[in-house]
Amino acid sequence: MSSGAVHKLQGAETSLPVSRREVLAIAHQLHQRGWVANHDGNISVRLAGKRWLLTPTAMSKRVLVENDLLIVDANGRVLQGGRRPFSEFKMHMAIYDARPDVQAVVHCHAPAATALSVLAVEVDPQLIAEAVVSLGDRVPMAQYHFPNSAEAIAELRQLAQDHDVVTMQNHGLLGWGDDLEQAFLRSELVEHLATIQQRAMLAGEPRRIPRADVERLLEKRAHAGLGAEGRRRRGKTR
Ligand SMILES: [Zn+2]
Repeated sequence: MSSGAVHKLQGAETSLPVSRREVLAIAHQLHQRGWVANHDGNISVRLAGKRWLLTPTAMSKRVLVENDLLIVDANGRVLQGGRRPFSEFKMHMAIYDARPDVQAVVHCHAPAATALSVLAVEVDPQLIAEAVVSLGDRVPMAQYHFPNSAEAIAELRQLAQDHDVVTMQNHGLLGWGDDLEQAFLRSELVEHLATIQQRAMLAGEPRRIPRADVERLLEKRAHAGLGAEGRRRRGKTR
């Protein structure tokens, strides 16, 4: 495709349905932030009728335009679009299966969070008060498994019950939420925290805030309707 055609389609983004416009905007952000390289990273949004809107495989997030997006069913079969879905859709489906409330999933290889994951170190929200409210007292790290293996999928399903963003050892970040913006913001916060944590680790030993305060922050979190406890209080199905 010529760059002129790309420009024209990007100019037309404002007239696209919100879900498509958002997927393109977030995909471009993933690249601009340096959270993906080459063909890394993928995005999905749940649509009505057991369908999902996806970024395609084997394309840079830098150049995606509307025609590149595709719609698939729960098995990843293409219902609309000329490109192929990414194989990591299985990872996304693990989250959607475990959490009927989740509407969007973002996957990227953001470098600070991924650097900690190759050290097998979890990103620790207990370093910053606001992070505990937004993310809970833990951002768990899924153990290394062969990509898309049954073990990898089973662990993600398990972690999705109580968490909204995880790192995956020797791999990257996976975040989800009520909408794509929330899934992206959770990923952004984890990457920011990981950057702070990494810098602190270079200079010394990071100190957590007191546990009693973490408990108070977790109560604020539940009160705000966030996390498993917050969802329970909101009376949402999981
Ligand atoms: Zn990946």
